[in-house]
Amino acid sequence: MSETLSLGVDIGGTKAHGLVLDATDRVLADRIVPTRLTADGVRRTVVEVAAALAADLGASPAGFTSVGLGIPGLVDHNRGVVETAVNLGIARSELAGLLAGDFTAGVRVENDLKAAALGAGLVLGQTVRDLVYVNIGTGLAAAAVSGGRLVRGVRNAAGEIGHLAIDPAGEPCACGQRGCLETVLGGLYLAPRLAAHGLELERLDSDPRPVAIAERERLVATLATVLTTVAIAYDSAVITLGGGVVRAARWLRPAVCDELRRRAADSPFLTGLAVADRLAELPEGSPVAAIGAALVGRDPAAVPSKEH
Ligand SMILES: [Zn+2]
Repeated sequence: MSETLSLGVDIGGTKAHGLVLDATDRVLADRIVPTRLTADGVRRTVVEVAAALAADLGASPAGFTSVGLGIPGLVDHNRGVVETAVNLGIARSELAGLLAGDFTAGVRVENDLKAAALGAGLVLGQTVRDLVYVNIGTGLAAAAVSGGRLVRGVRNAAGEIGHLAIDPAGEPCACGQRGCLETVLGGLYLAPRLAAHGLELERLDSDPRPVAIAERERLVATLATVLTTVAIAYDSAVITLGGGVVRAARWLRPAVCDELRRRAADSPFLTGLAVADRLAELPEGSPVAAIGAALVGRDPAAVPSKEH
């Protein structure tokens, strides 16, 4: 078979989303299955979704020309090793090696957020080769693509901006610091704080109570700082937002654009940075993480080699 069939699987804590891209990056098949926990469970999940997708295409899993996985945790892309994927019950796993016998093509693994940044670049247009994907879900982190390539850093920790501490008197963070950006915006801290005051994230913009207004202003100001930080750090053409908190708080994006423009009105530096103008919205429901996983699978720079 000479046809390009790039398999990508985004492995989430409860479900795994697999799809297949052709040579023109068209999605040929698309499947979601429940995620099994532990390294062996993840292996069986990937094999299951691959078999289902192959059947949809009238092919066999041996016909996939590349295989890429996106997975939470610290990922050594060159070695195909995943560490501290806590929600999946994985402390450390040589996941690429574990799956090597299940496919003809080599298996490549990347952190799920970094994969999503690659996928976002494709979804927003082939010309988007410089972008930052900011994810606000349980936690807060960013992933950058520069010149079409992921920025990983020497410890694969590039973009962990959630643990930038901005308030010495702020809430304690699981990382050991206080007042991290994540303690303001991350769902792990945000959800109990809102619940304690009887507030709802979805309706925070129309709640007239002072406690709601204070919380709303804090979220908007902190997100404006996050976006300004990534604009200064990476100077990417496009910044895009994703994650459960962003999806739930539909008022947050326009509110933060207003805040960024208000800050820029007082600062020639921020006017030149034009952070609000860099914000791009992904089409609703775009499977950027699974698309990105398929792109990870194709990356020739990721092939394990003796040099590493
Ligand atoms: Zn922290």
